[in-house]
Amino acid sequence: MTRGTHVSDRHPRAESIRIRERLTKHVETGVVALAGLIAHGRGEAFDYILGERTTSSAMRAITSAAAALLLARRPVLSVNGNVAALCAKELVELAEASGAKLEVNLFHRLPGRDSAIEELLRDAGAEEVLGVGDAASARIDEVNSDRRRVDPRGILAADAVFVPLEDGDRAEALRRMDKTVIAVDLNPLSRTAQLASITIVDNVVRAMPLLVSEAERLRALRVEELRTIVSAFSNRDALSDAMRLMEERLHTLSEKGVYIELHGRE
Ligand code: ATP
Repeated sequence: MTRGTHVSDRHPRAESIRIRERLTKHVETGVVALAGLIAHGRGEAFDYILGERTTSSAMRAITSAAAALLLARRPVLSVNGNVAALCAKELVELAEASGAKLEVNLFHRLPGRDSAIEELLRDAGAEEVLGVGDAASARIDEVNSDRRRVDPRGILAADAVFVPLEDGDRAEALRRMDKTVIAVDLNPLSRTAQLASITIVDNVVRAMPLLVSEAERLRALRVEELRTIVSAFSNRDALSDAMRLMEERLHTLSEKGVYIELHGRE
């Protein structure tokens, strides 16, 4: 087993190292697939360029996502290994705040992985977890991976699906099925980010608590008010903003080249 963290709080990248440790620990519990570590690394690279913060544009996407989940008649939160390892508690809170169901849906459905994820969600307070074992009995034929196996009570029947850290294949299939697709993806260039109805370009670790508090806040609104929020949102604008912010930050930093000072030397 991987030993606990020993990273000092003063380490400039302490938070990022702790997140990596959480993911590698969950490779050992069977929750995270090895490919999940690669996907995380790709996300981290974009986060570095973004400046590791929630931008105001991402915040607008979060608000719109919360409104869309509250408006949906059958919302489902699709859970994969990385999200379960990083945000189990917030997934359960978001399900409660928005009235959504939780469903395990995996690219690599290795034996025991779905029940390991279910256990993590139940430990975090989930009462019902769809998509585990034989419950994932329906098929979405357009999808090529194990992700095609869905629960008829969940993703198959859903009108809105929250798909954090998704692959483009399934985001496209779900859109073709006329579902509202809400993604969290640090890479605005990915097929998922491009094809989702609402893309939150932010680290899932930062976005999830904000999504929970927005769902709790917006619960008091009327349906028309929620609709106004959703219809004011443009995914095209959100992705343009994310790309522009990355471009601007790189431009500013490129003027300096070296932007991290070496302290402690005369
Ligand atoms: P696509 O098929 O959509 O073009 P991909 O092949 O990059 O994308 P995956 O390898 O499944 O898809 O990667 C999942 C996506 O999740 C990546 O685009 C990555 O940027 C993003 N990602 C990984 N970790 C995080 C995180 N912690 N927060 C937000 N996004 C993340």
